[in-house]
Amino acid sequence: MQDDAVFKISYGLFFLGSEFEGNKNICVVNTVAQITQEPLKISVTVLKTNLTAELIFKSKKFSVGVMDHSANLDDIAHFGQQSGKNVDKLIDMDCSLDVLNNPVFKNGCNASLTGAVTDVVDLGTHYLFIADLKDAAILSDKPSLTYADYRAMRSGTFNKSDADSKTNDTWQCSVCHYVYDGETPFEDLPDDYICPVCKKPKSVFKKV
Ligand code: FE
Repeated sequence: MQDDAVFKISYGLFFLGSEFEGNKNICVVNTVAQITQEPLKISVTVLKTNLTAELIFKSKKFSVGVMDHSANLDDIAHFGQQSGKNVDKLIDMDCSLDVLNNPVFKNGCNASLTGAVTDVVDLGTHYLFIADLKDAAILSDKPSLTYADYRAMRSGTFNKSDADSKTNDTWQCSVCHYVYDGETPFEDLPDDYICPVCKKPKSVFKKV
């Protein structure tokens, strides 16, 4: 059996927050997933020794910031590479509170989620928390950061502009040179879209 095959599974990177009796913490995990659609449930697996795992176990709630391509390594190191048991990681960081009073870190994130825990599975070293989605917001249209992107960032080989341009080509009107800057990908615009400046049809736009 090739155990390394599991490394082919892709993961995102997330800021995971919780609060219990005024104690707040945020850590970094790569294990958030949507697990059912109806009802809308998410799960997260956290090392039991993490302060955040203790807080979620007691409070039965957590927040998630879904990192995108604008996430920065300093923030990931701040929340991911030191323990809330030794330092208050929230001091001087731009955190807000979600609907369940969990701290959320939204910088470099394209979405925020709030979960209310319905089930806890003891995995020995980790807890698997299963939660109902209680709140959710889209914060940007930037692509989500994968764990592979993060490793590339750490080794200096992640090119944000290359990664972003794959999903966000620039389209320009060949008549008046207007550059489309809407949130909807240009390819997804209706066929009757016209240039807002010169009123020529969608077909005159070219990828630049
Ligand atoms: Fe035009």
